[in-house]
Amino acid sequence: MKISKIGEFGLIERISRLINNSPKVIRGIGDDTAVLKFKKDRHLLFTTDMLLEGVHFRLKEASPFRIGWKALCCSLSDIAAMGGIPKFALISIGIPKNFEIGDIDELYRGLNSAAKKFKVDIVGGDTDSSEKFIINVSLVGEVEKKNTSLRKGAKIGDRIFITGELGGSKKGRHLEFTPRIKEARWLVRNFKINSMIDISDGLIQDLGHILKQSGLGAVLDKEAIPISKDADTFEEAITYGEDFELLFTVSKREAQRLSNNLHIRPFKTKINQIGEVVKNGGVRLLEESGQTKSLVLKGYKHF
Ligand code: ADP
Ligand code: MG
Repeated sequence: MKISKIGEFGLIERISRLINNSPKVIRGIGDDTAVLKFKKDRHLLFTTDMLLEGVHFRLKEASPFRIGWKALCCSLSDIAAMGGIPKFALISIGIPKNFEIGDIDELYRGLNSAAKKFKVDIVGGDTDSSEKFIINVSLVGEVEKKNTSLRKGAKIGDRIFITGELGGSKKGRHLEFTPRIKEARWLVRNFKINSMIDISDGLIQDLGHILKQSGLGAVLDKEAIPISKDADTFEEAITYGEDFELLFTVSKREAQRLSNNLHIRPFKTKINQIGEVVKNGGVRLLEESGQTKSLVLKGYKHF
């Protein structure tokens, strides 16, 4: 059977059945990072992301600086989705033989600027030659047990929120986004977050991951979803992906408390309520006309 038949998520599910973990693993495959036993009051977070020339960027359009920035920020975004604090990174690269040495300097300038901004140490990696340029970042972080936010945990009646705006990644935003570490830390330290994910494959598909883990549905309010002026269409904004915003759910009471306290948040990023978790029915969109429409859980597909 060909991989295209089962798709990326079918493949990951299959891989997870081939793996058996020890009790030291609190969450293995299936969340934004692995969650591992660590200290009395803290979990260790561990994640990795790979960027490929031609898939995640084109060398003609993206400068090596931006590729470096993006490579680390994709993993930072996954640590943010758990409510965590990033710590140490390993960087592995595969480089074509004709690559300019100056471009590697630029790549590491990009990596360093993200590392400095988010207080991460780059502590090693691996280097090989390859036909196309590849970069892989592995990142460890930590999070207080009580602040760990999983994809799982959404409840009926939860209000759904997102940070920032969606869309525009096609026009280059995916190369210069800011991972929402600061925002995530403020949220988990001040509110009871029931579930959280970062939007890498599009709002609809990533909301689907949250809902699937809790066996629930959702109704989104079309008018409440903030769309970037760089997005071509609403449809693109909610399905194209690489927004790297946070998507999370909180109880109705916490939603009220969050809305009342937004004016004291220590950052400019907007936080908007965009819908509600319901018992079932997949993801539905409440349109301006007052009618609801069922959405197909589509987003970025690798296979
Ligand atoms: P994200 O978009 O948040 O980075 P992914 O969709 O890439 O998450 O991955 C989903 C889950 O599958 C994660 O827990 C990840 O660690 C796991 N995963 C992805 N690829 C593999 C693989 N080849 N082997 C084992 N686990 C994998
Ligand atoms: Mg993620």
